[in-house]
Amino acid sequence: MTGEVIRVCHGLQVLKFGHFLAEGVPHGFTLRSGGVSTPPYDSLNLGFHVGDDRLAVRENRKRLAEAQNFSLQELAVGQQVHGASVVCVSQELCGRGRDSDADAIPGTDGLITGEPGVVLMAHAADCTLLFFYHATPEYAGLAHAGWRGALAGIGTVLVDKLARLGCRREAIRVALSPSIGPCCYRVGREVAERVPVKYHRHVLAEREQGYYLDLPGIQRLQLLEAGIPGDNLFVSKYCTCCHGDMFFSYRAAGGRTGRMAGFIALPEAEL
Ligand SMILES: [Zn+2]
Repeated sequence: MTGEVIRVCHGLQVLKFGHFLAEGVPHGFTLRSGGVSTPPYDSLNLGFHVGDDRLAVRENRKRLAEAQNFSLQELAVGQQVHGASVVCVSQELCGRGRDSDADAIPGTDGLITGEPGVVLMAHAADCTLLFFYHATPEYAGLAHAGWRGALAGIGTVLVDKLARLGCRREAIRVALSPSIGPCCYRVGREVAERVPVKYHRHVLAEREQGYYLDLPGIQRLQLLEAGIPGDNLFVSKYCTCCHGDMFFSYRAAGGRTGRMAGFIALPEAEL
């Protein structure tokens, strides 16, 4: 099964990717409904760093963990800085970023783990979350990228790291979350000029005296170049800005809004 599906569990909507479901990989990308946060964070804001009431974010995370059957103590969250660094997370780092952004794993937008019982989590509201899974040896990965992280090549960095750990590039499965699409992502000339020329005709459009960037598109091209087969690479059809009713969108909200969460863990070992 390929594609994506929105599942409802305990009143929370969570988007799932077909090719991870097929392998029994616990994962998901939240939508904005089903939480307790009030406007402009309504309602399932899962980010501590956006100015929302901390207790509301904790309650939202608790609801997500219950609905998706993991423990908050298993969470590992990075302090996202729009960079390209990737940290390998072991169980000792579990709990980091669980209750506040201050104790999240510093300065990293990319997380990987080869250990069961570790739930990687990242946040976005228009940026792309990239989900990775490799079965033997078993590794899961999660990365956050807006244009800075994408142009810094975080997807490639993460794939290279998995390859060094013994993963075969042709067997890595990747899914890109809903994020802002080329329909809505107007960028300035200074951003457009930083996009490598070889990608221009695929990911940059000039209209209405501005530039429109295909953020998931550029990451898809980078991942193909990094050796991920096209059949293993899924890109969500949703633009977060076009669907501001379903997703938090920084652009659609004009700045202040909540954050969705992506999470992924290794499947539970068969006993
Ligand atoms: Zn759009």
